[in-house]
Amino acid sequence: MMSNGYIEEGRVNRVLQHRRIVGEMIGRPLKKREVVHHVDENPSNNDRSNLQYFRHNSAHCRLHRFADRHGIHLSFLRIPWEKIYAAT
Ligand SMILES: [Zn+2]
Repeated sequence: MMSNGYIEEGRVNRVLQHRRIVGEMIGRPLKKREVVHHVDENPSNNDRSNLQYFRHNSAHCRLHRFADRHGIHLSFLRIPWEKIYAAT
């Protein structure tokens, strides 16, 4: 585990585990602009149900701002990744 809590994989081509897993979920490697959000805000919890895909970071930031503004914990804002993938 890295000091920031993210899990890295591979010795030569290092890849962040949560990005690798979501890549498998959507059937291709993630592009740079694509972002994975951890629903429970724990960066080392890479269970599929905890990973939320965003096509752009702008949509991801919108989620965080919405939670901040309304005082809602992010874990209550879980949206199935298929819906996010289709809508963003
Ligand atoms: Zn996030």
